[in-house]
Amino acid sequence: MKFARFFDLAGLAMRWWQRHTHAASRLPLTVALVLAGIGMFAVGTGYTLLWREHVDGIRIHAAGLRNQIDVLQTIYLRANADFLEGFGTARQASFAWPVARVGAAVASFQQLEQGYANSPKDAATVRLLREETARWAWQLAEISVNARLEGQRASVDSARLLDANRLLEQIVAQLASLREAQTAILHAGSESANQHIEIEGIVLALSALVACSLLGYAFIAHYREGLARQRVRVIAEEHERRFQGYFEHHPLPMLIFDVDTLQIITANRAAATQYGTTRDDLCARNMASLYAQADMAAFRRDLSKMHSTATSSGAAGICRQRRADGTPVYVDLSFHFLTYAKRKACFITAIDVTERKRAELALRLRSRALDAIGNGVLISRAEEDGEVIEYANPAFERITGYALSEMIGHDYASLCGGRSERELLPQIRASIAKGSDSTVLLQSRRANGAPFWNQMDMASVSDERGALAYHITVVSDLTELIESRDRVVMQARRDALTDLPNRLTLRELVDQAIKEERGFALLFMDLDRFKDVNDSLGHGAGDRLLRKVAERLSACLGSDSVVTRYGGDEFVAMLGRPHEDGRLAALLERVTHAFEAPVSLDDTQLRVQMSIGVACYPADGADAETLLKHADLAMYEVKGRGRNGIERFKRNLADAADQRIALLRRLRDAVDRNAFELVYQPQIDVREHRLCGVEALIRWRDPQIGTVSPSTFIPLAEENGMIEQMGEWVLHTACAQAKQWAHIYPRLRMSVNVSPSQLAREDFCDVVRRALAASQLASPQLELEITESALVVPGALPALHTLNQMGLSIAIDDFGIGYSSLSYLRTFHADRLKIDMSFVRGIGVNRTDEAIIRAVLALARNLDFDIVAEGVESADQLAFLRASGCHVMQGYYFAKPLPAAEIPAYFARFEAASPIAYAAASAVSDR
Ligand code: C2E
Ligand code: MG
Ligand code: MG
Repeated sequence: MKFARFFDLAGLAMRWWQRHTHAASRLPLTVALVLAGIGMFAVGTGYTLLWREHVDGIRIHAAGLRNQIDVLQTIYLRANADFLEGFGTARQASFAWPVARVGAAVASFQQLEQGYANSPKDAATVRLLREETARWAWQLAEISVNARLEGQRASVDSARLLDANRLLEQIVAQLASLREAQTAILHAGSESANQHIEIEGIVLALSALVACSLLGYAFIAHYREGLARQRVRVIAEEHERRFQGYFEHHPLPMLIFDVDTLQIITANRAAATQYGTTRDDLCARNMASLYAQADMAAFRRDLSKMHSTATSSGAAGICRQRRADGTPVYVDLSFHFLTYAKRKACFITAIDVTERKRAELALRLRSRALDAIGNGVLISRAEEDGEVIEYANPAFERITGYALSEMIGHDYASLCGGRSERELLPQIRASIAKGSDSTVLLQSRRANGAPFWNQMDMASVSDERGALAYHITVVSDLTELIESRDRVVMQARRDALTDLPNRLTLRELVDQAIKEERGFALLFMDLDRFKDVNDSLGHGAGDRLLRKVAERLSACLGSDSVVTRYGGDEFVAMLGRPHEDGRLAALLERVTHAFEAPVSLDDTQLRVQMSIGVACYPADGADAETLLKHADLAMYEVKGRGRNGIERFKRNLADAADQRIALLRRLRDAVDRNAFELVYQPQIDVREHRLCGVEALIRWRDPQIGTVSPSTFIPLAEENGMIEQMGEWVLHTACAQAKQWAHIYPRLRMSVNVSPSQLAREDFCDVVRRALAASQLASPQLELEITESALVVPGALPALHTLNQMGLSIAIDDFGIGYSSLSYLRTFHADRLKIDMSFVRGIGVNRTDEAIIRAVLALARNLDFDIVAEGVESADQLAFLRASGCHVMQGYYFAKPLPAAEIPAYFARFEAASPIAYAAASAVSDR
């Protein structure tokens, strides 16, 4: 019954224990219980053994005491028997207590006294016994001593004997009592031992049972523990298998790497695809290979930060990695620290957000572009009754002057309240609704009411159902553009210098008149020698002169005529109905009259003359171009005739122009073929009677049009950009020729004419160097003749200085006929001045010319110039020049320009002739 209860309780405890203890904590508890069971068993057994030893000790002690008591009883009985036996003998006194017996009794008493050492009462009884024994022995001895022998029989004092017997009885009774006590102890010990043996059996059985139960439980627990462990292992393996499957097939890129070495331990397929490699390759890599050098430090920093935080998982945010081929990939990184394959590892998911990043960047860029763009951008929600503004960029605020807060939620048209918007916006919306984007230019108003030119480009944005949802309006403030365009249009139609209408306006007026078939005359006016004003007084003066001319022309023309600046120093006036009432003649008269008075420019009074060519519509041409060309031709005719005049266009002028064009074509061909030759005109030093030089002069004999004068084709070549090529040929040919003659006449100087446009070329000095190098001619034997106008060509002066330094001499040709500026003589010191033949021609005819010649000669002497007089044709001219101090001359009087082949013969004749026979020398063949 007791056992059943015990097992119930044990079962209950077991269930509680199982329910409330974890598998992990069960083992030590089990061990503790087993140890408790074994302990209980050991304690029970030990206690039983000790108790038994104790009880046995008591029993042995009692048995020992009882034995001693028995020994004493035997001693008494024998002493008494021996007393009785020896009674009546002579030795009867020593029979009861011999010494041996007394010794035995004393030994027994000592034993008893020791045995009862812990029991004072019994010890006192033993001491009493010892005294009584002694007393009894004494009584016996007295009896024996006092006995009287009466024959064979001895008589004793019976009273004493009775006392002795009583004492013996008392002693025996006390001994019996002591013995009984010990016997009782022995009995009690036996009984107690028996009872204990029973209890021992029970305790041992119970201990064995508890120990067995606990051992059984321990065994079962161990077994169950094993089962649990196995189950855990199976579950773990299942988890591992599931994890592997989940990991490998998961669409998100995942990988696990060693936190210490950064070695990638494993990676799934998605990761391999993302990084553009195989799983094996990825697993052989280190995390560092997924980062560019520059990003690696950030990765390490993030990793240690993540590692140091208390959480084992988290998000590291977006970072930049790179694929196997080096291209960057932006990933959103999540991490989880774990132990994997017994290593400290980090599990990461790296979601490719490159596209999102790009999209974000694109969005940011677009948003930034919207902020930065100079055009206003407006996003408005299309409502039935208007456009509700949802967004406006800073430029829109800047252009319109409205703050964004004022605009949001308002209707655009009502805001920028121009009437044009209100009228136009519905139209624009309607056209957008039909699917086309729309652009309009209109005048809007800013917040402060100021108008501005607004180019509005509107586009629609549909919602997901395709319905119109928003409008995007780009507002471009074109105010400045339109105003500057208007300005440009104005400027394009007017001449900036004179503020007269320009040639474009003239063209429009002419075209318009022709279209309306209204008759008109064009007066093409070109200032005579305007270039000289520019060259001598400077371009500023030239401009001022043009403005004054423009003012005078405007003043003298009526309201029905227009004067325009055609370009340079050319003005064109257009006069309606020229033939009515002599209107044209009257106009020409007014123009001529207008310039009779000189124009004052600073301190200079300039007489302005002009060459005017007239062409009339419809007589002289059917279109603007022809009419202008014909008026120009008529003007050139005036120029050709010596300037300062008026010429009406005639048919033959057009023919001459045509001829000019034909000539140009032939000239171009001749230049290409170098179809020229050089003739050489001697220069004579009359004082020394010496041929000091020759001037090379170009000749062109065309097979179709015959010989053409250089005065005709040289300007043509200059105007049409052919002079450089032609001039180079002249230089090379003349130098080569001079070299040939050098051995006949070593001091001969070769003079070559150079056009201003040749001198303007940057490489002109190189051209000269090449000619000298090619011919091997010494540079002092070469002289270049330039006109005064060449001195003002940009870059001419440095080139002339260089040429001078190269050893060449420079002569100023035709000196005195241009707007000669003596200041040029100061900036550049030429070697020679060639007095123009027009002055020589005046010798003996015109005193002014003679005076000029004398003045030039005096100037030359003072400034240390050599002088050559050109075009000397007569002995008088020669005589005048010699008398005036000019000794070097060139002219038909001495020789006409000669072909190279004739020069040696001329030299020979010249040297043979006497100094006064110059006339004879001039009698050479006329070339
Ligand atoms: P220029 O340099 O002043 O040459 C002198 C011109 O006067 C030459 O005319 C010559 O034949 C002519 N002449 C010389 N003595 C007399 C004379 O006593 N009476 C008259 N009436 N004329 C005389 P040409 O050869 O017709 O040359 C005309 C101009 O053509 C030259 O004037 C020169 O400026 C230019 N020219 C000639 N050849 C060349 C050349 O090779 N290159 C360049 N750039 N210009 C050249
Ligand atoms: Mg010349
Ligand atoms: Mg000349």
